[in-house]
Amino acid sequence: MEESKKKPIMIGVIIVCIAVAGIITYSRYSGSGGGVDGIPEGEMIWVKCNNPNCKAEYQMSARAYHKYMLENANPMAPTAPPLICKECGEPSAYRAEKCENPDCGIVFIQGSSGPGDFADRCPKCGQSATEKSRNRRKAAMEAGE
Ligand SMILES: [Zn+2]
Ligand SMILES: [Zn+2]
Repeated sequence: MEESKKKPIMIGVIIVCIAVAGIITYSRYSGSGGGVDGIPEGEMIWVKCNNPNCKAEYQMSARAYHKYMLENANPMAPTAPPLICKECGEPSAYRAEKCENPDCGIVFIQGSSGPGDFADRCPKCGQSATEKSRNRRKAAMEAGE
């Protein structure tokens, strides 16, 4: 009996904590300095449409992307909201990466290789720019010792 009374209270506390964390994150983004203004004008990012009938790949302004994220992000949701695809008009486009491997070069949605892995690991050839730069730094450190 006692345990079953505690549970709803615990859930309520957790929800409040998540909401507060979301508000703090959101206000940090929308505050002056950094944010969208910190992104260089003309910087482009890749986006890819996840709609199986579309699969459009195109570049958009990093500023426009972050502005959209600030305006549409749900502080309660752990994932970024989808973008409206400029080809099919559906909310199914996501931040993507272009593979740096010259023999590959595909555009893929970030995190395609699954949770816990580098978000920029190419699902086709397995190359990750983040992993590469980390390995380079690690090798340099080891060489210096
Ligand atoms: Zn599309
Ligand atoms: Zn690749």
